[in-house]
Amino acid sequence: MTIFQKIIDREIPASIVYEDEYALAFRDVAPQAPVHVLVIPKRPIRGISAAEDSDDVLLGHLMGVVRKVSEIEGIAESGYRVVVNNGAHGGQTVSHLHLHVLGGRAMGWPPG
Ligand code: 5GP
Repeated sequence: MTIFQKIIDREIPASIVYEDEYALAFRDVAPQAPVHVLVIPKRPIRGISAAEDSDDVLLGHLMGVVRKVSEIEGIAESGYRVVVNNGAHGGQTVSHLHLHVLGGRAMGWPPG
């Protein structure tokens, strides 16, 4: 079981920003920007690579949740970055799909 499953199950606390039937959004414990929220599906998909064609609607839903989070956090107009780390070279450390929503400052490019 991943740490994110424990957050979904309310076994460990998190600062929850948004929740619906399919998704949960909460603040990253080690924020890399003034706004750093993680958007996850409640269903434990390990990552983008582990998603199936039948998950496409859910994957699209997560992007809609990103938009809602950006509005809740007040960064919709100023802009933000959405990052999904996948696998070892992507830098993924938690094996439960998550979208990083980063904002509140200008982002650099390219990423490290
Ligand atoms: P990854 O490196 O897999 O793309 O991102 C995992 C993220 O989860 C990291 O940014 C890390 O700070 C965050 N994280 C790890 N453990 C916890 C936790 O227990 N609570 C919260 N809110 N975030 C966590």
